[in-house]
Amino acid sequence: TAQTIDGTAVARKVREDVAKGVEELVARGGTAPGLATVLIGDDPASEVYVRNKRKLSVAAGMQDLHRHLPGDVDQATAAALIDELAADPAVSGILLQLPTPKHLDSEALLARIPAEKDVDGLTTVNAGLLAQGRPGLRPCTPSGVMVLLDEYDVPLKGAEAVVVGRSVLVGKPMAQLLLERHATVTICHSRTRDLAEVCRRADVLVVAAGIPGLVAADAVKPGAVVIDVGIHRTDDGLRGDVDTAAVAEVAGKITPVPGGVGPMTIAMLLANTLAAAKAQQGLED
Ligand code: NAD
Repeated sequence: TAQTIDGTAVARKVREDVAKGVEELVARGGTAPGLATVLIGDDPASEVYVRNKRKLSVAAGMQDLHRHLPGDVDQATAAALIDELAADPAVSGILLQLPTPKHLDSEALLARIPAEKDVDGLTTVNAGLLAQGRPGLRPCTPSGVMVLLDEYDVPLKGAEAVVVGRSVLVGKPMAQLLLERHATVTICHSRTRDLAEVCRRADVLVVAAGIPGLVAADAVKPGAVVIDVGIHRTDDGLRGDVDTAAVAEVAGKITPVPGGVGPMTIAMLLANTLAAAKAQQGLED
C-alpha cells in the first residue's frame, strides 16, 4: 500500500523554519512580521480558520494585527480598512478571509491589497507574476503542495502531472507551479470528458475539485503520487476528493485527509508573511 505523506509533520517543520527566520530578522535589526487577518461577519468556519492563522502566527513570533468588521459593514468602510492596513508599515501581510458576506464585492476589496502585502497570493498582480514565471507571493495551498512533493523527493521534471480543478485559488496556480518545475501538466475540470482516463496518465495527481470521493482507484496509475486537496465535513469526520482507502492500494504515495494538504496552507501563509516582511524591510537573505 501507498506511503502516507505526513502533512502535519512537514507543516510543523515549515513553521519552525519560519519561527527561526523571524528570530533572525529581528536579530538583524528588523521588526517582527505583522499579519493582519481581516474577518468580516461571524461565519463559524471562517472564525475557526482565522483563529488558527492568528494562533500559529503568534507562535512563530509574529505580531497579531487582526481586525474584525461586522457582517453588515458597507463596501466603503471595508475598503477604508484595507487601505489603512495597506499604508501601515507594521502590517507585513493582509489576509482577507473569504468568503465575505454576499453584499460585498470581495474582488474589489482584494484589489486594494498591495501585491507586496498579498500573503494569500490572490491579487491580479501576483497571479500575473506567477503566470509569467516571475518571483512573487504564491497562493498558499498550491505552494504547500509543492513543498510536500519536494519533501518526499517526488521527481517533477518531465513527469506527467494531472491537476483536477481550475479554480483561481488552487487548480490554476497549482498547474502553473508544476509547469514551472518542468512537469508535463494537464488540467481537468467539470467539462472534462473522461476524467478517469486522463487521471490514469498521471505520475503526480493533484485533486482539487470539491467533490467527495471523486477520484477512485480506477483513475490512478499504479505507483502514482496522489495529492488530495479536498476538504469535506461529513458525519464520519473530514474527507477529501479521493477515495483514500481504495486509492492507497494502487498509489505509491498519498496525502491523508485530514493531515495532508490542510496543515500546509497555514504554514505557507506564515512563510509568505515572513518573506513579505523581509522584502519590505530590505532584509532579504
Ligand atoms: P472550486 O469549487 O472553486 O473549484 C472546483 C474545481 O473543480 C472547478 O474548477 C471545477 O471545474 C472542478 N470540478 C468540479 N467538478 C468536477 C468534476 N466532476 N470533474 C472534474 N473537475 C471538476 O473549489 P476550490 O476552491 O478549488 O477547492 C477545491 C477543494 O479543495 C474544496 O473541497 C475545498 O474545500 C478544498 N480546499 C482545501 C484547501 C486546503 O487548505 N486543504 C484550500 C482550499 C480549498
